[in-house]
Amino acid sequence: MFNIPKPKPEDLIRKTFARFTDEEIIPRAREMDEANQFPRWMFEKVATTGAFGIRYPKSVGGAGGTTTQFCVIVEELARGSMSVAAFTAMQCLMGTNFLFEYGTPDQHERLLKPAIRGEKVASFALTEADAATDLGGVKTMARPDGDSWIINGSKTWITNAPVADFYTVLCQTDKSKGLKGLNFFLIERGTPGLYVSKKFDKLGTRATEISELAFTDVRIPFENRLGREGAGVGNLLRILAVIRVMTAALSIGLARAAYDHSKRYALERFQFGKRIGSFQLVQQKIANMATDIWASELMTYKTCEMIDRGERALKEASMAKYFASEVACRASDEATRIFGAYSYSMEYDVQRFYRDCRFLLFGGGTSEILQTIISRECGVF
Ligand SMILES: Cc1cc2nc3c(=O)[nH]c(=O)nc-3n(C[C@H](O)[C@H](O)[C@H](O)COP(=O)(O)OP(=O)(O)OC[C@H]3O[C@@H](n4cnc5c(N)ncnc54)[C@H](O)[C@@H]3O)c2cc1C
Repeated sequence: MFNIPKPKPEDLIRKTFARFTDEEIIPRAREMDEANQFPRWMFEKVATTGAFGIRYPKSVGGAGGTTTQFCVIVEELARGSMSVAAFTAMQCLMGTNFLFEYGTPDQHERLLKPAIRGEKVASFALTEADAATDLGGVKTMARPDGDSWIINGSKTWITNAPVADFYTVLCQTDKSKGLKGLNFFLIERGTPGLYVSKKFDKLGTRATEISELAFTDVRIPFENRLGREGAGVGNLLRILAVIRVMTAALSIGLARAAYDHSKRYALERFQFGKRIGSFQLVQQKIANMATDIWASELMTYKTCEMIDRGERALKEASMAKYFASEVACRASDEATRIFGAYSYSMEYDVQRFYRDCRFLLFGGGTSEILQTIISRECGVF
């Protein structure tokens, strides 16, 4: 009788995670950044919300949620701390996806279910010293030996590597096959021959830990190849749109934080006897930030809807990631201008947004490579 719009499931999820971010993350974000280490206590706190299982079915302890719901969660977390959002995204998606899709029931019991409960930390290792944007250059080799694989090689820039319990690692099994010779392997911490380097000292997302991994004759069981022979890149492509749209959602979270802080400061700070927000050039910055964020939201969540309908959406996800990550960098840059000298002080959060936003430019494809992909998808290459 009454045409009252029903709230969508993601509305409730946004409300819940917005409150979690305001109450649990924002008050501790600076402390986590300054500590410069993985905050296991926060990882466990995020696990209690059920976030780590949002993409997985109830049969493995998940919530059976949509890509839209997943993106809403990481966006809200990123508004409070990019580090917390980054390790959550790793745990929900890249670090566990291949284990969920191609792991054995025993691997699900021992690793996936505990990871969803926040008892084990996951990690995802593609990048090598000479193979980053160009994954065709991956040199880490997996060779069959009886009922095992023997892994040799190394990876770099691996999020969670120093703290992870298991790693999904991209290796070459047959060099002559190029991209078709690439496969994912599951390697558990403590396996003889696996070495984890000292953590990197880095510019931003300082509450995540990153390091190199080295593999010297690492022997793993044959069933630890995740997916059928040669399907690694194809299987990665199947979640690439989700990885990109998730990075767009992280970008929106950070841009919103920069915008919220800028708006407050523009209304509080007085110069020439007036609020700085009364000067048209400051208003222009606020207007541009708000417009950019609105456009990022439209692109990102429209793409999520397409993915949730089962559409490929690779062009749209690439556009959303490219646009929203650049918006996050522009917004944090404008925030530093609005804050003036105070943006240079570690006492204020805008310096953290300015450092953390750079992370968004690399994962899921650099802006340059995304522009190349978008152009190709448009038929110009
Ligand atoms: C904070 C952080 C966390 C990370 N976490 C992980 C992780 O968990 N797991 C993992 O595997 N990796 C991780 N990485 C690595 C990340 O995936 C790489 O940084 C990314 O793939 C880009 O590689 P690169 O930085 O070495 O740049 P390169 O590939 O060396 O590129 C350098 C420059 O050349 C440009 N370029 C390269 N090729 C082309 C081309 N064909 N056309 C035009 N321009 C081109 C790029 O756009 C870039 O500007 C992480 C990186 C960072 C900074």
